[in-house]
Amino acid sequence: MLNNQNDKLPPRPGLAGGRPNRFALVFFLVMAVLFAMYFFRGSGRTEAREIRYSDFLRYIEQNQVESVTIRDNNTVDIFLRGNSGAAGVPMRTLIPYQDPGLITMLRENNVNVSGAVTGVSPLRVILEFLPWIIFLTLIWLMFRNMQGSGVKALQFGKSRAKRYHDEDKKVVFNDVAGQRDAKYELEEVVAFLKNPQKFTKMGARIPKGVLLVGMPGTGKTLMARAVAGEAGVAFFHMSGSDFVEMFVGVGASRVRDLFEQGRRNAPCIIFIDELDAVGRVRGAGYGGGHDEREQTLNQLLVEMDGFDSKDGVIILAATNRPDVLDPALLRPGRFDRQVVVAMPDIKERESILKIHAAKIPLDRDVELSRIARATPGMSGADIANLVNEAALFAARRDKAKVEMTDFEEARDKILMGVARTTLVISDKERRMTAVHEAGHALLHYFLKNADPLHKVTVVPHGRALGMAMSLPEEDSYSRTRGWMEDRIVICYGGWTAELLCYGETTTGTKQDIQQATEMARHMVCEWGMAEELGPVAYGQEDEPIFLGKEIARHKDYSEETARLIDKAVKEILDNARKEARTILETHRPELEKLAEALINRETLVDDEVRAIIGLPAREVSAAPLPGR
Ligand code: ADP
Ligand code: ZN
Ligand code: MG
Repeated sequence: MLNNQNDKLPPRPGLAGGRPNRFALVFFLVMAVLFAMYFFRGSGRTEAREIRYSDFLRYIEQNQVESVTIRDNNTVDIFLRGNSGAAGVPMRTLIPYQDPGLITMLRENNVNVSGAVTGVSPLRVILEFLPWIIFLTLIWLMFRNMQGSGVKALQFGKSRAKRYHDEDKKVVFNDVAGQRDAKYELEEVVAFLKNPQKFTKMGARIPKGVLLVGMPGTGKTLMARAVAGEAGVAFFHMSGSDFVEMFVGVGASRVRDLFEQGRRNAPCIIFIDELDAVGRVRGAGYGGGHDEREQTLNQLLVEMDGFDSKDGVIILAATNRPDVLDPALLRPGRFDRQVVVAMPDIKERESILKIHAAKIPLDRDVELSRIARATPGMSGADIANLVNEAALFAARRDKAKVEMTDFEEARDKILMGVARTTLVISDKERRMTAVHEAGHALLHYFLKNADPLHKVTVVPHGRALGMAMSLPEEDSYSRTRGWMEDRIVICYGGWTAELLCYGETTTGTKQDIQQATEMARHMVCEWGMAEELGPVAYGQEDEPIFLGKEIARHKDYSEETARLIDKAVKEILDNARKEARTILETHRPELEKLAEALINRETLVDDEVRAIIGLPAREVSAAPLPGR
C-alpha cells in the first residue's frame, strides 16, 4: 500500500439542527384531551330516546303517560305508565311552540306534571370551551415560534438561514491565515458594505455575487464570515443542500425567503454554501426527479436578477466544483466574480497552525514550522483537525502540555486513518505484508528521482494492512517524467517482493496495480510522456457531472491510436516492473532484513531503515518529525 492521503476529514459546518419537536408534543396532548372530552360528554348525557312532539301528544291521548317533567320550559322528560308497551325507556321531546293547551291536556289525562331548571354547571362550561382554549393557545404558540428564531417545524417554506450576528464570535480577516489574494479581492466587497454611498455616488458597479472557489476545507466558509465580520454587517448562511428537500417547491420558497430576509436586513451578506448542490447544470443527470432542484435554481436566478447591489446586499457563494455549475449562474449580474481560495502552502500551513495552536497549551519542544513541513497536501480544515487531535492525544495521556509526539500521532491518524492495532492478523499474513511493504520501502533508496521514505509500517491503517509513506522535501505542483516513472516502480515494489519471496502474489496488490496503471495512462494520454504518441492529449477527460469517471471519458481517437496507447502504457508498466525486480533481486538480503525488522518492530522511520540496510544516515533529515 502507498500513502493514502485521501483520508482527510473536512469538518462540515452544519446549520442549526431542529430542537426536539415541542409542537408534536403539544399537538398530541391536545388530541388526547379532545378525545377524552368527547367520551366524557357522551356519557354525561342521560340516555333518553327523542320522540316527536306529535307522538308525545298521541301517548297522552292514549293515556299512556304517567308523569312528565318540563325542563327549562322547552324540554319534556316523559315517563310512561308501567303497563304500556314502551315503558321503562325514558323519552324526551322538545316543545316546538308555546302550547297553552298542553297543561290542560296533561291535567285532563291525569298526568303528574313537574318542572325543572337545569343549572349551568361550571364544569360543563369549561368542557364546552376547553377545545377552543387549547386550539387558540396552539395557534398562538405557533405564531410566536414563527416570529422568533426557535423551532421551525411546520415551516417548510422558510429559509432557516442561520444568522450570525456581529456579537457571536466575530470572525475577521486576521482569523484567516494566508489567502492574501482572496483577501485582496474581497477587500472591495468589505469597503462597499461599510459605506455603500461612497460607491454608488461614483456610479461604480459593485459585484452582486462573488463565488468563492476552492477545495474542501480551504476556508471558504470561514472567509465569507470574515468578510461579514470585517464589514460589521449581518451574515445569512445557508447551504445549497438545505434548499433541496423532499417536498417540491420548498427549495424555491426557501430561496425567496432567504432573499427577503436579506433585503430586510441590509446591509448584509447572504452566503450560499455548497452552491453546486443547487446550481448544477440544468437538464443533465439521471432524468426525472430533478424538477425540484431546477425550480430552486430558477428561483435563485430570478432573485439575483431582481436584486440591486445598491440595496447593500452582497451574495457570496462557495463551491469546490465550479465546473459543474449552470452557466447561467456565472453570467454578468450574477456570480460574475470568482475568488480562488487556494490550498495552503508550507508557510501558510505554518500560520494556520499558529492560529489554531494559540488556543492550546504547547510544550516547548513543539516546532510549528516542522509540523508544517510534514503536512503537505493538508487543507486548513485538516490542520485545524490536526491541532485538535493532538490536544486530544495529550489530554488522554494526562499531559499538562501538548508535545511534539502528540502532533506526530495526530498527523498519522489523519493521514492514514485511525490505527487499527487491535485487528487480529494471522502470522503468515503479517509476514507477507511485511515483505510487501519492505519491497515498497526499499525501492525508495535505490531510485534516483523518488521522494525520500518517511515511514514504513505494517500496523493496519484504515483499510490498508500496511503502508510505506514517502515525504516530498518540498511542496511541488508539477512532477517530472523521471519522478512519475520511479513512482510506478515503487508501486510495483510490493508485488515484486511478494513474487520473489513467495513465488506468488496476493490480492493485496490491487491498489498498487491500479495506481500504477492510472499513472501510466496519464503519462501517455495527458502529459505527452510517450515518444510514439508525442505531446498530444488523447481522450477528453471532461469531469463527469453525474456519471462515473470511466463512462465520462470521451474516446476521440482512432482504434489504431487506441492500440498504440495501450502499447505505450504497457511498455511503461513493463519497464517499471523490470526495474523493480532488478533492484529487489540485487538487494534481496536487505529486503529480507527489512521485512524481518518490520515483523518485529512494526514501524520503521527513514533513519531506522537506513541503519538496517546499511546506508549512511541522511545529513539533512527528510523526515521532519522525530521517530517514535
Ligand atoms: P470550506 O468551507 O472551504 O470547506 P471551512 O471554511 O469550513 O472550509 O474551513 C474549516 C475550518 O478549517 C475552519 O473553521 C478553520 O478552523 C480551518 N481553516 C481553514 N482554512 C483556514 C485558514 N486559512 N486559516 C485558519 N483556519 C482555517
Ligand atoms: Zn502496496
Ligand atoms: Mg464550507
